[in-house]
Amino acid sequence: MMAASRATGAAAQDAPKLPSGAFVIRCGAALLEKNNELAVEHGVDVLVRDGVIEDIKVDPISGFPVVDASRHLVLPSFISGHTHCCSGTPTRGIFEAGRSYRDPLQLVEKLSDEEQDALTALNMAELLRSGCTTHIEMSLTLRQAESYVRVAKPWGVRGFPGHMIPNTTRLFEIWFRTDDKVLFESENETLREIADGLAFGKTHMGANGGLIVPMMNAHATDTHTEKTMRALKAACDELGSGLHLHYSQSGGESGKVKALWGKSPTEWLDSFGLLDQPVFGAHMSGIDWAAEGPMLKAKGVVYAHCPSGGGAGGGSQPYPEALAAGVASNIGIDTHSNDYVEDLKLAVLYGKNRTRHLRRTSAVPLKSPTIMDALDGATRVPADALKRPDLGRIKIGAQADIVTVDVSGMLSGSGAMPPEPVYNLLYCNGMMVRHVMTTGRIQVYDGALVVAGEAKVIADGGAVVQKIWAQLEDAGWFSAPIPRRG
Ligand SMILES: [Zn+2]
Repeated sequence: MMAASRATGAAAQDAPKLPSGAFVIRCGAALLEKNNELAVEHGVDVLVRDGVIEDIKVDPISGFPVVDASRHLVLPSFISGHTHCCSGTPTRGIFEAGRSYRDPLQLVEKLSDEEQDALTALNMAELLRSGCTTHIEMSLTLRQAESYVRVAKPWGVRGFPGHMIPNTTRLFEIWFRTDDKVLFESENETLREIADGLAFGKTHMGANGGLIVPMMNAHATDTHTEKTMRALKAACDELGSGLHLHYSQSGGESGKVKALWGKSPTEWLDSFGLLDQPVFGAHMSGIDWAAEGPMLKAKGVVYAHCPSGGGAGGGSQPYPEALAAGVASNIGIDTHSNDYVEDLKLAVLYGKNRTRHLRRTSAVPLKSPTIMDALDGATRVPADALKRPDLGRIKIGAQADIVTVDVSGMLSGSGAMPPEPVYNLLYCNGMMVRHVMTTGRIQVYDGALVVAGEAKVIADGGAVVQKIWAQLEDAGWFSAPIPRRG
């Protein structure tokens, strides 16, 4: 594809010679799956051959090139249950004071394909840089989903992409409607989008050696009708990979669904059979955990908890409630932060604080999250929901989707390999990620992007955001009064 070449072309000329084919990862410590349990093992060698983990030994495995992770914690690379890949950098740093992200995100759709690809590339590079190699991706429009695939393919990224329906050019007037007539009048266009989403899914299903597996996406339950939900179910059945949606994002969403259809969002989705498949639902702030929790658990719906979903300092979310209800809980990226390690940490820290504050007043049980809860949620939980037991774990026979994190250096460690390195992750961010690979293909090496020229990816992506800032400036966006936010 011509459009991808500018941002995603040949790898940097000065890139180091990287091991490929068969090589050993020499791990200071590794999070292994043993007898179905997660266990940290110190001083192990992991042999990767042809994209798969072939052997794991405490003794050194000799005779192969070595990727040195001897001062790192080695983990299965992270799976985000909710991303909008190219939307991070256009909003970051300009909406936290209280402005809406609506205008910057709508301007993304006015970009050329080439510009969208440059934006996608920088955001995808950030995801990889922080160890997030698998994305349940809800692109905000079909064009952005095509851009996602164009960039993901040459970089060997594992993606489950689709486009948000209704897309971002139509969404806000439907979502923020004051009259439900707007919702019903949107039906035909939404049905057309579902057909387009299905066609996109069929076109790209299994692309790149099976790394690209499109899914159907819905914006949320309060922007659909019975008619569009039935069409969505038919499309999901035809595509067969599952459903991704924002799920009970607020009490407002559940209220609207109850008023229109007499059911909670969970009952309403279930009435169409939409929960009888892999489902990734983001946010869930409006869930009635006592009433809906048991169904979410029984159906295996994955709660994609996105601690940075509202941007830095955004609202607290019901991760402790979901864990206590036994609901499969993943850590997701959402829009503004692409730093998976930071979000992993925030999920634990925010969750512990929420538990402390609500312990005496909560009407439902709470479980204070541990780093192991978050790590399981970042790896095995979404892999199992996707029916992919070969993903999200370090064990013999699994795909070599792996991240290494420096837990012994400055700020994250103590100058030596620590005895309980998972806790050092609570002092880490994505910049402490050193090596990242998908199916044994190294994408980040010693902290640098190696699937493309990192400096060019940053410069090209930055130029596109500068254009968006200039358009916002011209429209008076920066000088308009800022609405108060909580
Ligand atoms: Zn979202």
